[in-house]
Parts: sequence; C-alpha cells; structure tokens
Amino acid sequence: MTSEIIDANDIKCISPVFGNLSFDNHEQIVFCNDSETGLKAIIGIHNTTLGPALGGTRMWQYDNEADALNDVLRLSRGMTFKSAITGLNLGGGKAVIIGDAKTQKTDALMRRFGEFVHSLNGKYITAEDVGMETRDMDIVREVTPHVTGISEEKGGAGNPSPITAYGVYMGMKAAAKYKFGSDNLDGKKILVQGIGHVGETIVDLVTKEGAQVIISDINKVQLEKVSKKYGATIHHDLDVYGLDVDIYAPCALGATINDNTIHNLKAKIIAGAANNQLHDEIKHGRLLKDKGIAYAPDFLINAGGIINVYAELVGYGKEEIKRKTENIYNTTLDIFTLAEKDNITTHRAALNIAQSRLDAKKN
Ligand code: NAD
Repeated sequence: MTSEIIDANDIKCISPVFGNLSFDNHEQIVFCNDSETGLKAIIGIHNTTLGPALGGTRMWQYDNEADALNDVLRLSRGMTFKSAITGLNLGGGKAVIIGDAKTQKTDALMRRFGEFVHSLNGKYITAEDVGMETRDMDIVREVTPHVTGISEEKGGAGNPSPITAYGVYMGMKAAAKYKFGSDNLDGKKILVQGIGHVGETIVDLVTKEGAQVIISDINKVQLEKVSKKYGATIHHDLDVYGLDVDIYAPCALGATINDNTIHNLKAKIIAGAANNQLHDEIKHGRLLKDKGIAYAPDFLINAGGIINVYAELVGYGKEEIKRKTENIYNTTLDIFTLAEKDNITTHRAALNIAQSRLDAKKN
C-alpha cells in the first residue's frame, strides 16, 4: 500500500465544514436554500452555553461559497466571546446571505430567510449586520419572533449602530487612557475606515471632542456627505495603513490587519467596530504587541449593538443600555492591564476572560 502525503488544501476540499480552519467546535451549521426567492444562506451556531445564539445577518456578495462559510464560522465564534465578555446570557451565532444587498434583497427573500430562522425554534436569534436595515428585521418579524433589531414602532430597540458606535468610542477612550495617559481625544489624529452606520457616528463623536478626523470609504457619495457634515478630511486612496495617525478605527470589513498591512501601520492605537479585525488572531495579535500598538479587542468594544438588541429580549430601558455600554471603557482598561501583567496579547486577555465565564457556566 502506498502512503500519500495529503496537502492541507486537499483536506479542506474533502472536509469543507468540520475540516475548515475556522471551524471551532461549532454546535450547528444550517445551509438554507430557496430557489423561488434565490435565497442562499448559512446560519452558524457556535455555542449556546450561556443562552440562545444571537448574532446578526450579513448580506454580502461573496466570491465563492467557501468565503461565505468561512465568514459565518468566524463571525459566529466571535459572538460567543462577545456576549460572554459583556456579561450577557447569550450564545454565539451569526448568519450570512450570499448576494448583493442592493440588487438582490427582496421582501420575499427576507421572509423566507425568517422562516429558516423560525425552524430553529429560538436556538438562533437574528439581528442586522452589514447589508441589513431595521426594516429587513421588521419583515423577518412577520414570520418569526426570533429576531431583534426591529424598529421602535414595532416594539424593538431600533437601529443598534449608534450604540455600537458609542461603545467603540468608549473603548477608544480607554485605549487612549492606557497608551497616552489621558482619554481626551482633543487634537488626536483619527482614521475612520468605513463611514457607514457605525463609522459615521464615530466620526461625529470624536469630532465633537476635537479630534482631527480622516475618512476612507469605497462609497464616494458617503465620503463627500460625511466630509461636508463634520469637516473630516477624505483620504482617497483605499490603502490607508501607512497613514501617520494616532488612532486607526477599522469600521468596514474584517481582517484588515494582515500580513500585507501590519508592517506599514503607524497608528499607536487600533480601536474600531469591524468584527474579526485580525486576520490571524495569534500571529497578528502578537505582532501588534511587539510593535507597541495598543489594540482594543474588536469583540469587546463593538458590543454596544448586542447590548441594544439584548435589551429587546430582557426589557432593559435606555438608561441600562447606556450604562452597560459605558462599562466597555472599564473592561477595556482591565484587558490592557491584564495583558501587560501576563505578557499576553490584548486579544488573548479578552478571550481568557470570556472563556472563564463559559467554563464557570459549564461546571
Ligand atoms: P455599513 O455597511 O453601514 O458600513 C460599512 C462601510 O464600509 C460602508 O460605507 C462601505 O462602503 C465601507 N467599506 C466597505 N469596504 C471598504 C473598504 N475596503 N475600504 C473602506 N470602506 C469600505 O456597516 P456598519 O453597520 O457600519 O458596520 C461596520 C462594521 O462594524 C462591520 O464590520 C460590522 O460587522 C461591524 N459591527 C457593526 C455593528 C452594528 O451595530 N452595525 C455591531 C457590531 C459590529
């Protein structure tokens, strides 16, 4: 019998789900297909130790199915740790719909997606993410109660993005306190990459505090609008990584801190809303630490949105949402202190705290 050496890529082809590098003991992965509406979606349920898996639905024109699967695996895992570190009784889940949200999203498609969510009997609760609006969640609500982020008129907490932005701002200020000795952002140069729902509000908050803001986006109309409204400087080249700024706020898509960008980074702090900012959590987390860049873990500081949608489930009012979101400041400072004490990356420190909460519940 001849023994052949199997290449890692071959194994991935043979075992695309359980053998996927982003697979991390996920509990359930649901592939949803409907030829009538054109729906092709994947729901990832990573872990339900602390409660039902809650996480938004992203609609994106992925290059291929493997990218969509990879995204839902990474994003759903991130939600487990995000809820755990924020102290919410929720598990981690996420969904992706493959397609262009601008041209392929229809009410019928959203309703059909909602039926798939409903079939999981509340084990997964959806919300909005990139490519989704509050209105889309209202449509999903027509066919299932297992949805959050619905409009205030329909009894929901409304668009979570302003609260997400406020939490990121809290995390950014805590990082500034750690790195510069003061959390005052007056005069700081801040690059906001992606000025959509969350990014624009961050521009608003830091501008009010006197920061000099540089903005980058693929959407030229939005760039002009935000620049005019807040006096922010537009950086036209999408390659923003070498810009000499104090703070880099990634608020577009994930994995922008990768082998191609990390060596160019001049920012002293990274604090933004995007999920999964580190392409490789271990390697790039370590490189940031070695470069002396203070990285505020994404899943910790962008938790305002989930706090907001959690409020819909448990009936918190606006004051409690604000209080819990402001607490991101203290948790971020704790993470920097712990990482320094244990000589580990901030990402690892945040994961350790989240994992200890999961372990405590299991035992
Ligand atoms: P959004 O779609 O409203 O905004 C994203 C913006 O990024 C858009 O303006 C888009 O044109 C821009 N963009 C895309 N590719 C880009 C590129 N290569 N360079 C520069 N800009 C680019 O999304 P959002 O709701 O503002 O969310 C932003 C990020 O924060 C996402 O990664 C999302 O997963 C994450 N997040 C959002 C929330 C929330 O409450 N909305 C909560 C947690 C995490």
